[in-house]
Amino acid sequence: MKTQELILIIEDDQAISKMVSLSLHQHGYKTLVAADIKSALRLIQTNSPDLIILDLGLPDGDGKGLIKTIRLELAIPIIVVSARHEEKEVIASLDSGADDYVLKPFSIDELLARVRSAQRRFLGLQPNVNVILCHELTLDIEHHLVLRKGESLKLTPTEFNLLKYFILHRNQVLPYPRILKEVWGVGYQSEMQYLRTYINTLRKKIEPDVARPIYIHTEMGIGYRFTCDTSNFD
Ligand code: CA
Repeated sequence: MKTQELILIIEDDQAISKMVSLSLHQHGYKTLVAADIKSALRLIQTNSPDLIILDLGLPDGDGKGLIKTIRLELAIPIIVVSARHEEKEVIASLDSGADDYVLKPFSIDELLARVRSAQRRFLGLQPNVNVILCHELTLDIEHHLVLRKGESLKLTPTEFNLLKYFILHRNQVLPYPRILKEVWGVGYQSEMQYLRTYINTLRKKIEPDVARPIYIHTEMGIGYRFTCDTSNFD
């Protein structure tokens, strides 16, 4: 593994790319900046970055198309940076294969946290692990068991599948239609009420305090983000 991670910033606003680049340098990352899709593709070919921070509105095209192109070649984290009014664009970019998004204006601390979380998730992808620890929860995929603080939880098959999907995709923004498609199946993408109902019952079973969820976080208008105590994964 490289000692210094290389992050490619694709952003046409120079003030933002300079600020992000400077802050990443201060935190030990190497950076490259591309101001349009053409030069981004060139830099990806020649430098093989470890992570990409991508602005959606670029002078020579749409960032979403670029995500698809990158995804054909590289399994690296892509964090989309987008203005708030582009909510539909954010959902579409997650569907295109982006891993996370940060809304403008953002704080550099927030962006750094997302970068670390994306890296952790990519390093921690272990498809053959059958027992996964997630803070107070233990998910035993093979035996269809969930324990909380060592006590077995009674989950319905759908609740179990939903929790499993969340834990396998932890620290990731999961749009509503994607969750419905992956857990319930094709054709259920718009059954929002199913999802809300199951989120409520699952929260009651796993959250220490339903009013202040620590596992299932709502991403307003987009979907959910499931988090675990990250110390379990370092
Ligand atoms: Ca832009």
